Order: sequence, then structure tokens, then C-alpha cells
Amino acid sequence: MKIIDTIKSDQVTLSFEVFPPKTSDKFENTYRAAERIAALNPSYISVTYGAGGGTSMFTAELAQKIHQQTGVPVLAHLTCVSSTHETVERTLQEYKKRGLENILALRGDIPEDGQIEHDYKYASQLVAEVKRAGDFCVGGACYPEGHIECAHKADDIAHLKEKVEAGCDFLTTQMFFDNNIFYNFLYRVKDVGINVPIIPGIMPITTEKQLARSVAMSGTNVPERFRAIVDHFGPDPEAMRQAGIVYASEQIIDLVANGVRHIHVYSMNKPSVAEAIMQNLSHIITL
Ligand code: FAD
Repeated sequence: MKIIDTIKSDQVTLSFEVFPPKTSDKFENTYRAAERIAALNPSYISVTYGAGGGTSMFTAELAQKIHQQTGVPVLAHLTCVSSTHETVERTLQEYKKRGLENILALRGDIPEDGQIEHDYKYASQLVAEVKRAGDFCVGGACYPEGHIECAHKADDIAHLKEKVEAGCDFLTTQMFFDNNIFYNFLYRVKDVGINVPIIPGIMPITTEKQLARSVAMSGTNVPERFRAIVDHFGPDPEAMRQAGIVYASEQIIDLVANGVRHIHVYSMNKPSVAEAIMQNLSHIITL
């Protein structure tokens, strides 16, 4: 099933993200985690792709297994910064063979050693190529606070428009901890004529370390209210976990109250976090 058809519906839905294992001996455990998440009946599960090739080997295999065994639609990520046209073409053939119809087309982060291929500079090139390659539903990434490498928000939005025009059917945002930033972004993108559905991405923060890592990678703003929560509860792992799940649940409640119908949750390979969020929302979202 195409993601775009799922997210066009009026029903409020959540989707969740998982990442594939680095080695084959961890595959079964990863699948078990995804299976528990699938039991929550999300609109889809997305499976990440390692830009440097590190964890990309198992993306297609994991996505196929989730889809075949649980029936939940899947969104397989694909990055291009460390790929050549030939490797992308081969991967697209493999995705097709495995029955994967939804692709999140990304540039990927530049690896720390700076080792990249030079066939692709931006995700928009990959988006266009995936669209040409077959009947895929294609998503792209977007950044309500601006992408970390782009000095001006307006330029980033102009680049986003090019990416949408290259063939994105929908966009998913990077995490944010202040919903007003997302609402403001919606106005800004509408203003330049971006009209595809935009799915907000919410990351439940369950440890202090996770917040530091995520913010360092993305440049996401941490509002005072959330900073105080992490400062206060961070030293107590159970309290921090609970507070992070409640904070993410509140963000989702606010989004739903403001008319947002589809929300992506970066709970990664932690089914207990996804389950706790669903429990908090049991009368608000019935999947
Ligand atoms: P792009 O859209 O190419 O943008 C990258 C930068 O280039 C931006 O600063 C943009 O403004 C600029 N730019 C674009 N076009 C032009 C132009 N024509 N001229 C000048 N500048 C331009 N990473 C992974 O490795 N694996 C994953 O599975 C993964 N999943 C993700 C899922 C989501 C929802 C998000 C938000 C991010 C994900 N990432 C993933 C991280 C992503 O790969 C990085 O954020 C990466 O740095 C940018 O990828 P992009 O596809 O947004 O790139």
C-alpha cells in the first residue's frame, strides 16, 4: 500500500521508525522489536538506511519481512551521498523485487571521514531518479528549524521546493520539541507553494545522553520547559524515561488538537516506548 493513500485519510494515525541491525546475528532481535511495534497497528513503519553503507545492508530485508509477516505498510529509506548511480539503480531493483513501494529519498549525512561518491550532491537528484525508476511513492525530509548546513531558512525552503518539484509525494520533518516551530514552518512552506502533506516527526527523549546526541547532530532547539525537565529528571533513568514519553505524548496531543492527522514517532527500536505512547493516547488515537 502506498503511504500517500494512507495519509490522505481523515483518520488520525501514527507511524513509527526502526533502524536495521549492523550484523546478521542481530537481525532476529531487531525484527522482534519491529513486530511488537507493528502489533500497535501503525499506519506504516519506516526503516532507516545508513548513509555510509554501515547499516544499509539489512534495510530492504527488514522492511520486506515487516511488511510480509505483519501486513503493516513499510517505508524504506535510501540515501545517495555515498552511492553511485549504479548502486542506487541496483538498490531500487532490489526494493522492487522485494515488493517495497514506498521510499524516503535522502541525501544522507556526510560521513565523518568525508568519503563520499560524487554522483549525487542533493536529495532532489535521488528523488527524481526514484520517480523515473518506477511506480514508487516517494517521500523527502524537511527541517522546520532549517537544515543544519544551510545558513538561511528561506534558502533551505527554496531548496525544499526544488526537491518537492523533483517528485516528493510527501515530506517528513526532523524532530522538534516546540510545536509552534512546526506550525510556523507550515505557513512558510505554504507561502512558497509547497502543497504536499507534511508529516511531523516526534522523538521521545528517554535519556539525557540521547538529547545531547540528537541536538548535536540536528541543531534542534531545546525549549526552556523541556530543558528544565531533562535537567531535573535526567539523573534518574526511570523518571527521565517517563518524563520524556509524557513530553512526546503531549506534543502529539497538541498536534492532533490543532488538526494534524498523521504523526511520525522516532521511537526507534524501543517497542516499550511506542507502547507507552499509545497507552497515553488510548482515547485520543485509536489505530
Ligand atoms: P537535501 O535535501 O539534499 O538537503 C541537504 C542540504 O543541501 C540542505 O542544507 C539544503 O538546503 C541543501 N541544498 C539542497 N539543494 C540545494 C541546492 N540546489 N543548492 C544548494 N544547497 C542545496 N540519514 C541517514 O543516513 N539515513 C536515514 O535513514 C535518514 N533518515 C532521515 C529521515 C528524516 C525524516 C530526516 C529528517 C532525516 C533523515 N536522515 C537520514 C538524515 C539526513 O540524511 C540528513 O539530515 C542530511 O544531512 C540531509 O538529507 P536531505 O535528504 O534532507 O538532503
